[in-house]
Amino acid sequence: MSETSMAKSDPAATLPRIDFEPSAATRLDGVDLSDVPFSSIFSDHMFVAEYRDGAWGQAVVRPYGPLALPPNISALQYAVSVFEGLKAQRLPDGQVAMFRPSENAKRINRSAARMSMPPIPEEFFMAALRTLVRTDLAWVPPAECGALYIRPTYFSIDPSVRVKPAESFLFVIFTFPFGAYYSAPVDALVTERYVRAFPGGTGDVKPAGNYAPALAADLEAKEAGCATVMWLDGVQRKYIDECGVMNVFIVLEDGDGPCVVTPPLAGTILPGVTRDSALALIRDMGIRIEERPIAVEEVLAANSVGSLRECFGTGTAATLSHIRSIQYRGETILFPSTEERPIGTAVRDRLIAIAKGLSPDTFGWLEHI
Ligand SMILES: *Cc1c(COP(=O)(O)O)cnc(C)c1O
Repeated sequence: MSETSMAKSDPAATLPRIDFEPSAATRLDGVDLSDVPFSSIFSDHMFVAEYRDGAWGQAVVRPYGPLALPPNISALQYAVSVFEGLKAQRLPDGQVAMFRPSENAKRINRSAARMSMPPIPEEFFMAALRTLVRTDLAWVPPAECGALYIRPTYFSIDPSVRVKPAESFLFVIFTFPFGAYYSAPVDALVTERYVRAFPGGTGDVKPAGNYAPALAADLEAKEAGCATVMWLDGVQRKYIDECGVMNVFIVLEDGDGPCVVTPPLAGTILPGVTRDSALALIRDMGIRIEERPIAVEEVLAANSVGSLRECFGTGTAATLSHIRSIQYRGETILFPSTEERPIGTAVRDRLIAIAKGLSPDTFGWLEHI
């Protein structure tokens, strides 16, 4: 094979080059990386690439800062916009690794396809992540505390208020450090007034437009003294879908030992990378798993016969949050204290240990920078 035909058949050969414009000075001085609140200070650089006329054009890592965009772009008008969230962590030897980034590459393209947006080549997505994280490596918190959160964002910059598939896009990635994210067990309010997702909708992908409508339910929960919302299915308003922006797990005891129940990926559940990782670990621990619909009524019934053990949510930011109670139609289902929750606690500890390189990466989840 000649060199030219090889170049043509190699998709990586057509990927845009990533230019670099360094920031004049770092903003890192005086920042205590072990103690930064989530989403409070942003790293020095961001990645920006433009898609236009059917092709990826210029890509650049440049100083973090405002984007100048016209007000008529369809990202703003119609939420033609999708995003991802993942973390990079410092390992004991000082190196840095991302957690399962290729899952985010695949998922952003499922989200993009649902919004009639062209795919981001997976190699390009990975190269962009690697280049940006490597540039701001100093922003990754020390091994014992915190992580670097990475937010890929992909949206239309079509300057048109016509409702139609967009043609031009920006792919932007920014990052920020955050200190250890410990959240106390949370109370969740089952909302019957609002739904997050419905069959045929967009609940199984991550478009920007999914999140603003959820805020009213969040407010309803806060007014009831709860930290978060327990979402029910949009058709029967009977089955538990998700908890806030986390996938949800309930542990029941049925005489044959514990069984972990989580709603199936049947169109309204976001396929969380943390959900998938938690399931792999639970399976590895030899604990039974049932991916099936679970009604609030079943949880109430389990509570009344004393077979309710644990409830937790999973997502990239918090990894795993224990759910202390579920409020439903004026009743409160109170779960056992965290000391009596061996499964959620073990899953959380193991996930964190693998991501931080403290225990062997037997599943091949770490992508070293
Ligand atoms: C992002 C997200 C999750 C968690 O996904 P991870 O990949 O584990 O971070 C769960 N539910 C919703 C609705 C989400 O948007």
